[in-house]
Amino acid sequence: MSFLSGFKGIRAGRAFALLAVVFVLTFGVMVALVVLDQQRVINATSRLQDQTVPEIIRYQRLARNLEQLRQEGERLFAATTQQARQQAIFVVTLVSSHPSVLEHPESAELARQTERFLVDVVRQSATDNRAFAASYDEWQRLAARLGLLVDDVSIQGINLAHADLSDVSAAMRHARIKLSVALVVVGLFLIIFLILLRAHLIHPLQRIDRALSHLGVDRPAPEFKPSAMIEIHAVEDAIGELHASLLQNEEARQALEKLANKDGLTGLTNRRHFMLTADAELQRAQRYQRPITIGMADLDFFKQLNDTYGHAAGDAVLRAYATLMLDTLRQSDLVCRYGGEEFAFVFPESTLLETEKLAERFRALCAETDIRLADGRLVRVTMSMGLADASDCPIEVALKRADEALYEAKHQGRNRVVVAKARAGR
Ligand code: GH3
Ligand code: MG
Ligand code: MG
Repeated sequence: MSFLSGFKGIRAGRAFALLAVVFVLTFGVMVALVVLDQQRVINATSRLQDQTVPEIIRYQRLARNLEQLRQEGERLFAATTQQARQQAIFVVTLVSSHPSVLEHPESAELARQTERFLVDVVRQSATDNRAFAASYDEWQRLAARLGLLVDDVSIQGINLAHADLSDVSAAMRHARIKLSVALVVVGLFLIIFLILLRAHLIHPLQRIDRALSHLGVDRPAPEFKPSAMIEIHAVEDAIGELHASLLQNEEARQALEKLANKDGLTGLTNRRHFMLTADAELQRAQRYQRPITIGMADLDFFKQLNDTYGHAAGDAVLRAYATLMLDTLRQSDLVCRYGGEEFAFVFPESTLLETEKLAERFRALCAETDIRLADGRLVRVTMSMGLADASDCPIEVALKRADEALYEAKHQGRNRVVVAKARAGR
């Protein structure tokens, strides 16, 4: 198959035009052959009309004349008077010199012999009646030859007609066979045409239609059997490229969405995205009556750190702090950079008590962790945190209560976790 490896397929228009040309040529040849046979029929028919039929009539006339010669001979021998014999001789002479007899050499010769013999016999009969009677045997032989010639001439006439008629019927038979073959060829071409149309145009178009209606980023790229038609191949390639660019667009869209949801400095979820996801988490917990807690944290004396080590150092601390949070919190916990050096949390499936322990552990970890700055110096930052139950209030209310608890933590001296008191009436 290596010689086909460079084969790109053929153009559908060209393929079907080629098929049509082959069809027209084949059908044209068949029609030409039928026309030739018809011409043979016409020729044989006009020959029959113009030559054969007059020829047959001439043969019939000759046969009749020869038969009349034979009958006149019989009458001559049967006649009892000389006058009757002379009359018979007169008719024999007339018939022997008839053009139809003269133009047929064999008949002319036999007619001459008959005439001569009968004239001699009549002449003899005038003097010798016994010799006349004795010559009857010889007459019978002559009459038999005349009879045979009549048969021959009749058969020759019939044979002439027979030859022409068999020519006509052979030509008609050939024409019929060729016409049938032409019809079978037309039928076969139609079938081949329909099969090719189905296999190389209709089916591929149906596959393309299906592929287009199922095209999507969540589905694999459509696969096509290699098509022999260049146009179909081009459309199938275009669908493959369309699917690839759909995937690229989707990847770009997801990347943009991630960027839009993230905080540029720390890589944590930003406040806008956090508000959406936290709200969804709260609604889910409240619908199923599951525990859920909200937290607000703020780094202590961060302005002082900025002032002492510089803004870049402050940024590095914020990044290190974000990493520490992501490493410590559970996968299901949500955290975001709420603004500046403030962070907000959602702890799904956690009671206030469980969250307080977790937050306390995290606070202690922060207080003990040295953060290395770019210039090699080590700094430590503490944080204060406020927690609030969020299982029975909107996100805004829960955040406000956590913020109040955070304020309380600052007020109590920082580096601590404060839990908001249960709301009145609970
Ligand atoms: P407190 O313990 O009461 O929270 O004191 P504080 O100094 O942390 O509080 P304050 O709100 O006065 O100061 C916050 C500072 O955080 C002020 C601002 O310069 C700094 N800050 C906010 N965002 C950024 C940031 O993205 N990068 C850096 N380096 N500093 C920031
Ligand atoms: Mg602060
Ligand atoms: Mg602050």
